[in-house]
Amino acid sequence: MAVVGGGLAGALLALRLAAQGHGVDVYERRSDPRLGGADSGRSINLGLSKRGIHALTEAGLIGEVMAMTVTMAGRVIHAPDGSTRFQPYGKDRGEVLHSIDRNELNQLLLDRAEAHPQVRLHFGHRLVGADKARRTLEFETRDGARVQAQAAWVVGADGAFSRARRELQRGERADYHQEYLEWGYKELTLKPLADGRSAIELEALHVWPRSHGLFVSHPNRDGSHTLTLFLPFEGPDSFATTRSEDEVRALFAKYFPDLVPLLPQLVEEWMAHPVGALITTRTAPWSRSDWMVLVGDACHAVYPFYGQGMNSAFEDCSALMAALARHPQDRAAAFADYERSRRPHTDTLAELSKANFVELRQKVQSPWFLARKRLDVA
Ligand code: FAD
Repeated sequence: MAVVGGGLAGALLALRLAAQGHGVDVYERRSDPRLGGADSGRSINLGLSKRGIHALTEAGLIGEVMAMTVTMAGRVIHAPDGSTRFQPYGKDRGEVLHSIDRNELNQLLLDRAEAHPQVRLHFGHRLVGADKARRTLEFETRDGARVQAQAAWVVGADGAFSRARRELQRGERADYHQEYLEWGYKELTLKPLADGRSAIELEALHVWPRSHGLFVSHPNRDGSHTLTLFLPFEGPDSFATTRSEDEVRALFAKYFPDLVPLLPQLVEEWMAHPVGALITTRTAPWSRSDWMVLVGDACHAVYPFYGQGMNSAFEDCSALMAALARHPQDRAAAFADYERSRRPHTDTLAELSKANFVELRQKVQSPWFLARKRLDVA
């Protein structure tokens, strides 16, 4: 069988399926991220929580994964005047989130998948077509060649802009809905101090909510933090109007003055890092006959503001494995069962993720925040 996409869900699922005795070919568009290079993917840090932990536990990986994380006991809200307030995630000390580097996690999953004798990884293979009747997939390789592969069945784990989904839906009665957020994102790095300590509280998620922009930061084990700036694409003080070095400095002086001394490489990073887009998608059905099924962002991309995209992609893997176990002789029934059990949850997640975008931004309306709003001139 084939898994299209060697990202987070694809690599985990390959491992789970191989452990059940399936021979798994994983086809990944990028080159091998473990070899480094410009193609090695985004550097986003992710918040790992209960659902993701459960799926990684099932795969026997949680010990190794936890060793790669930084605990986040709560979130620190940064007001425009530089004052801060800590909000714990729960009363119980165990109620925490875990920050993990997406690339590191992906590489671990690929290592473990590759070590399994039943898994073959094919990097530089971009899915470009599928023939559902003949059960073949077509890939374009790095040198532009087209190769075909026969697959008894296929899991599409190729992310938000999934080609597998497009092929699954071609010629079928199918729904697809996609919404772009009018805000994009850019990543920046907050380096550790010269002595290696973190410049801000390490074991927390940090949020700089502004009426016009939102910074979120996840900690790394080396004391640095990966900052993600969410900002409108268009309009005043947007990505469109923040292109020159002076415009970048002016934006930060206006909205994030407390961050300026912490980001000495701000301008260089701003110029070098791309602006990413965010989408919410809904799609139906998630499978076709007993041949193809979708998992993760391929069937339900959500905005990142609830921090559950990866966690729910991992939960899909658990749910699909459980459904396959419930219907050992009938894969089509397993796929339908999996979709029935997951869709209500992922539909709710899409709504919660949208609502949390508003909630995070509306922190600027809280009495504590308004009292400190003097410097937020928007
Ligand atoms: P992906 O990780 O996108 O993997 C898809 C893979 O398929 C990629 O490797 C890609 O190269 C490959 N591919 C694509 N097209 C093809 C093709 N045609 N042929 C072959 N291969 C292909 N989630 C959380 O749980 N917590 C967080 O804190 C969090 N924060 C986020 C912050 C931001 C800014 C963003 C953008 C997302 C965040 N997420 C978070 C969401 C999370 O990143 C995704 O939900 C998760 O990566 C989905 O995993 P996936 O395996 O389905 O897709």
